[in-house]
Amino acid sequence: MKRLVGIDLGGTNIRAALATGETQHATPAHRATPAAEGPDAVLSAIAECVHEAAGGAIDGAAIGVPGPLDSQAGVVHTAPQLPGWRELPAGPMLAKLLGCPVAVRNDASLAGFAEWKAGAGQGTRHFLFVTASTGIGGALIVDGHLYDGGSGSGGEVGHSPMGLEGPACNQGHPGCLEGFASGTGIARQAREAIERGESTSLAMLAPDAVDARAVELAAGAGDRVAAGIFSAAGRAIGRALGGLINLLSPDVIAVGGGLINAGDLLFAPLRAGVAEIAFEYPASKCRIVPAGLGTDAGLVGAVAWAVETFDPQSGSARV
Ligand SMILES: [Zn+2]
Repeated sequence: MKRLVGIDLGGTNIRAALATGETQHATPAHRATPAAEGPDAVLSAIAECVHEAAGGAIDGAAIGVPGPLDSQAGVVHTAPQLPGWRELPAGPMLAKLLGCPVAVRNDASLAGFAEWKAGAGQGTRHFLFVTASTGIGGALIVDGHLYDGGSGSGGEVGHSPMGLEGPACNQGHPGCLEGFASGTGIARQAREAIERGESTSLAMLAPDAVDARAVELAAGAGDRVAAGIFSAAGRAIGRALGGLINLLSPDVIAVGGGLINAGDLLFAPLRAGVAEIAFEYPASKCRIVPAGLGTDAGLVGAVAWAVETFDPQSGSARV
């Protein structure tokens, strides 16, 4: 097997690990992300982290980056948590630092790839992954391939249009699913409800303590305003997934990210939202399940993508 490294880049932490199998890796190395120091500092920290993880020369690496990007050119369009990352050719820059080819993918795409290879989507041909936390990301596996479309930027399942009016997402699209149903969107709707003077226990919290987790806890404790916001978020995700079921007829949809800790508070309205939009037959053939790999999915996906890209024989030999 070739010596390959997977890298999970976040706004606060970098993790890198040497692949030991198709989806297995050695103990990861960690670094804090020097995000405020700009792209060069972050790329140097990634290279250090890779050297520590690999302990010698490597044949290739794959990195998951939090933002929309062109996976074919390795150019990151923007990464909200990484100041200065704008049209940044991170793939070629990192390839030069590491002395090997580097594949760049969106972090949620790689988390979805991990779920397909080793988690909730294992054994399927058509798989959809959606992850709902601060933002909403996801991945499409179509006919056994991680889909990125003609531009290398496709597969963004978190940015479906929900209505002509409605809250903007973290990228500024009006009426976008991410604006309704991300952690950021849920927190903002709760603060707006408080400002309107609605009767909710959330009004007793300090304004910056009103986050998605606080809304979830209040909803679980019977707060009707909080429950309404959470239920609307689940329904919005469900309606978006219902449209995607009609379009793609996936075998399995896995839902991951921090919001799934809410359990039925999220999944009950989500399933109701799916039923509003999806045709009955493809919906009956699609299982909707919680994701299986948790926060490990990003790193496992980067490792698996490195193997898939640079040593596919080794990968398929293990299936
Ligand atoms: Zn959007």
